[in-house]
Amino acid sequence: NLVHIGRALLSVSDKTGLLDLARALAAMGVELISTGGTAQTLRTAGLKVRDVAEVTGFPEMMDGRVKTLHPMVHGGLLALRDDDEHLVAMAAHGIEPIDLLVVNLYPFEQTVARGASYADCIENIDIGGPAMIRAASKNHKFVNVVTDPQDYDALLAEMKAHGGATSYGFRQKLALTAYSRTAAYDAAVSAWMAGAIKDEAPRRRAFAGTLAQTLRYGENPHQKAAFYTDGTLRPGVATARQWQGKELSYNNINDTDAAFELVAEFDPAQGPACAIIKHANPCGVAQGATLAEAYARAFDCDRTSAFGGIIALNQPLDGPTAEKIVEIFTEVVIAPGADQAARAVFAAKKNLRLLTTDRLPDPKAKGLAWRQVAGGFLVQDRDNGHVALSDLKVVTKRAPTEAELRDLLFAWTVAKHVKSNAIIYVKDGATVGVGAGQMSRVDSTRIAARKAQDMAEAMGLPGPLTQGSVVASDAFFPFADGLITAAEAGATAIIQPGGSMRDDEVIAAADAAGLAMVFTGQRHFRH
Ligand code: 5GP
Repeated sequence: NLVHIGRALLSVSDKTGLLDLARALAAMGVELISTGGTAQTLRTAGLKVRDVAEVTGFPEMMDGRVKTLHPMVHGGLLALRDDDEHLVAMAAHGIEPIDLLVVNLYPFEQTVARGASYADCIENIDIGGPAMIRAASKNHKFVNVVTDPQDYDALLAEMKAHGGATSYGFRQKLALTAYSRTAAYDAAVSAWMAGAIKDEAPRRRAFAGTLAQTLRYGENPHQKAAFYTDGTLRPGVATARQWQGKELSYNNINDTDAAFELVAEFDPAQGPACAIIKHANPCGVAQGATLAEAYARAFDCDRTSAFGGIIALNQPLDGPTAEKIVEIFTEVVIAPGADQAARAVFAAKKNLRLLTTDRLPDPKAKGLAWRQVAGGFLVQDRDNGHVALSDLKVVTKRAPTEAELRDLLFAWTVAKHVKSNAIIYVKDGATVGVGAGQMSRVDSTRIAARKAQDMAEAMGLPGPLTQGSVVASDAFFPFADGLITAAEAGATAIIQPGGSMRDDEVIAAADAAGLAMVFTGQRHFRH
């Protein structure tokens, strides 16, 4: 099953590692064929190369749309070397076998990500490249196909180990990688088109990802796992730079994403904000006069849970904040940048993972979210819902004060990022109690209040932290009991979608307790 490589076709947009590869191939006696730009790069470096135009007998034409789409190329890739008829056809038409295809495609994903025009995106849909990749992959019994510069070294090592040949198992792996690449490429085109023509919701588009990282294990050690990117190059954990610390785990990636998406809701122009996440739920979110203060206030919501948490910031990490963070064990910190002083502080904590991006995610951006079920997956628009002050409807006799309104919107923003049933108590721009993931709303209300009580006791404060707070509920209160519990914990105002059959009862209970309540008309289930 060893196949010797005698002839290679190289056609790459990303020319990383190209020269080293080509030199090594030439040194092993491989004949090189290449398309325009690639051939020029090779020639400039003094390598001997044949133009694909010479092989096909046709010039490259139509702005490169037609370069390699020709039987002399595809016959050379697809011919079965052990089939008499194929051999006769090759001989009759002068088709030479191509044993190695090195292709990477027009940078479609990058073109979309930089906000290029419709016409520009169309021009960056590679046609001949995927066609050749598919042909070579199909014929992996004889042909090698490399689509990722990261695989060049492995190819050369394999050839060296086998005197210029490769094994069948090796070619199978290359083919698998190659088919994954064309699938991800076409999915990126499909996703872009769905967005560009505003095709309503996700009905026609395809999904595929590109392997970014093999993980040590999944949610639990007995589960294998990997991280795939979707080609959108969105700012976030998928595109962040990791400065230090161990490799991210599956749970780290999940939690870091939750943390960064949440903190990005807080416009840096409105001041520094910090979110601390455990198991994809926040255990503290706060704004502050400085970033260090925002962190300290987020930490004070639930100091017990914050241990081993994941911290996201809406501004570049600075020295004073870094000093505070390293006081306890933290898994990951993600921020839109980190200054020298901060990096110096973190450098002493080798295990602490520091991730930075050049921008915050855009909470209002459109996009899709999906989740697996047995035998399929559910797809929906990502929850980019947002309510402004003008959307709020006051339903109680008492209207919220300005300070209450600010906190109500803060609490509502956090509620969107908490597993349902979500109940969030907020005071002065900081969460003071988070109730997450309970099967009954009243339980979430109680748990959050109870934790706020515990924190107050631990900090030696007289009343519970919820005294004088406001409360957000991610969906309506089906009964008055949850609201009454919140009032008993000391809450003075409530924000919730409204729309329950018993809204009247709930409003009456709010009035009876002297609470102010506003309806958003929009809910944020997160199951
Ligand atoms: P070069 O820089 O060598 O001129 O072009 C390399 C790029 O052209 C590669 O990304 C390759 O996938 C692409 N390519 C090769 N053949 C064709 C073709 O026939 N049509 C189109 N549209 N692209 C091709």
